[in-house]
Amino acid sequence: MISYIKTTSAAKNVLALLDVIRFIHQKGWAPATSTNFSFRVEEFPDIIFVSRSGVDKSLITAEDFIPLTLEGKALQESLDLPSSEALLHLAIYKSTQNTQAVLHTHSKAATILSIIFNKKKLLELQGFELLKGLNGINTHHAQVTVPIFDNTQNMPELAQKFTQWLENHPSTWGILIEGHGFYTWGNSVADAKKHLEVFEFLFDCLLTLQVYGNS
Ligand SMILES: [Zn+2]
Repeated sequence: MISYIKTTSAAKNVLALLDVIRFIHQKGWAPATSTNFSFRVEEFPDIIFVSRSGVDKSLITAEDFIPLTLEGKALQESLDLPSSEALLHLAIYKSTQNTQAVLHTHSKAATILSIIFNKKKLLELQGFELLKGLNGINTHHAQVTVPIFDNTQNMPELAQKFTQWLENHPSTWGILIEGHGFYTWGNSVADAKKHLEVFEFLFDCLLTLQVYGNS
């Protein structure tokens, strides 16, 4: 990857993200080469590094990240293509403050819940102690909304929906895409991982409640 990645903080971030991706793959949240990930570093705030398309996430390396401008232009000639969902990552970086890493996963719980709740177009989370793992939340009484967008292969259109939602709901930490998967992000790689663990734990709880109820 490339000259940009040779800076100390980029190298540090990519190693941290590779650890997180291996963790995600082991959890079964990144099956069959699906999912994509990105990060940026302080030295280059106008560049994001996005995972290339089609890589098995149990085998991903630092070479599998492609630097892009915030407009989505590749900074170096390469035969590898960035993930087709790079536009969604860019929409998140541009519409949120201080985001340094974006994780997109395909867990079973997120996929099923995105279908069950798609009629409402959102998932409401409230009453869970673990909500306090999300930045800015300090009580289980907080109500956290996760929007659900219809799946599409039209990435510019979906990126526009992400942007609109995030501009109107700046405290959002996660987005579901129906029958597809989940996006979350954070102010560091560790932060994004923490958010993913919070949401996945709560998705599992909600799914179990769907089956057994809470009475
Ligand atoms: Zn996906």
